[in-house]
Amino acid sequence: MSSHEQALREAAQAIEEADQLALACHIGPDGDALGSMLGLAEAATAAGKEAVASYGSPFELSPNLSFLPTRLLVPPAEFPAEPELMVVLDAGAADRLGELAPNAEKAKTLIVIDHHITNAGFGDISVVDGSAAATAELVHDLLSLLGWPLTEVVATCLHTALVSDTGRFTYSATSPKTFRIAAELVEAGANPPEIGRHLYEEAPFGYLKAAGAALTRARLDETRGVVSTYITHEDLEAAGIGWGDIDNLIDLLRLAVEADVAALAKVHADGTVKVSLRSRGGTDVGGLAASFGGGGHRLAAGFTTEGDPEAVLDRVIAAVEAHR
Ligand code: 5GP
Ligand code: MN
Repeated sequence: MSSHEQALREAAQAIEEADQLALACHIGPDGDALGSMLGLAEAATAAGKEAVASYGSPFELSPNLSFLPTRLLVPPAEFPAEPELMVVLDAGAADRLGELAPNAEKAKTLIVIDHHITNAGFGDISVVDGSAAATAELVHDLLSLLGWPLTEVVATCLHTALVSDTGRFTYSATSPKTFRIAAELVEAGANPPEIGRHLYEEAPFGYLKAAGAALTRARLDETRGVVSTYITHEDLEAAGIGWGDIDNLIDLLRLAVEADVAALAKVHADGTVKVSLRSRGGTDVGGLAASFGGGGHRLAAGFTTEGDPEAVLDRVIAAVEAHR
C-alpha cells in the first residue's frame, strides 16, 4: 500500500470518529478546491455529521462556481478557532489557507488532502498524491473507504472539481481512473452539460472588455517561448466585473502556439501581484513558481508578489530557461 493510501485510511478513521468536521480550502478557491471541500462537507452531513466549510479572505465566490451548494459555507471569522477535526483540501502549503492558517495550527487533528507536487506534507495526517488529477479524486476514494453514498449534490461538487482541474478531461494528469470516477459521478446524478455551462459558457459582457484590454497588451517572447500579459483592478473596475470573473482568462492567453509558457499577472488594488503560470509541457512552471515563493503543479502554478507587473513578468521570462 502506498503511503498516501495508508494516510487515506487514517484520515477515514479520524473522520469516522468525529462528530463535527471543519473543512477549509485554499484562498481564491477554484473548482477543485471548492468542489472537493463542499462535496466532502455535503457527504458528511448526509452521513449524520455536522460540517462547516470556509476559506480565507477575500470571502467571495467566482460567479462560475456559485451554482455549487453553499449552505455549509461560513465566513472565515465564523470558522471554529480550535477545531477538533479540521480537513484541509487542495492547499499545497499552510500559507495557502490565508487567515485560516492559525485555525489549522490549533486544530486538535489536522488532515490535509491534496495533489500538489510542491506539497511537502503538513498536518497530522497528510494525504498527498501528486499523480491525482484533482483533489476530488482523493475525496472520492475517501468517501469509498467511509462507505458514504454519492448523493446527487456530492456528485455535482466532485464532478465540477474534476472538470475544472483536468481542463475538461484534457490535461496530462487525466487518467483512466479519472474517467472511471467521472462515470460514477454521472451515474450518481452529476450533470455534465449543466456543469460545463456554469463553468465555461457564461461570463458578464464586461469580461470581454477586460479580457480584450489584457490581450491587447500581450507580449510574445519567441526566443524563450513565453506569452505574457497583465490585468489590473482598474481594468476590472472599468469593465464592471470582479476578480472571480476572470478565472478563465489564462486559457485565452495560453492559446498562443508559439509559446510553451503563458504568464498572467493580476494587479490587485492593495498592490499585490498574483501571477498564474501554465506550460504546454516543456517547462516545469511549478518549479518556476516555487523559485518565486509560490507553488502548484508542473504545468499549472502560481505565486504572489508585489511591484510593477511588466517588471515581474520580465523576471519570470528570464527565469523560464532554468526550468526546462
Ligand atoms: P491559478 O493560476 O489557477 O491561480 O493556480 C494554478 C495552480 O497554482 C493551482 O494549483 C494553485 O493552487 C497554485 N497556485 C497559484 N497561486 C499560488 C501561490 O501564490 N502559492 C502557491 N503555493 N500555489 C499557488
Ligand atoms: Mn486542485
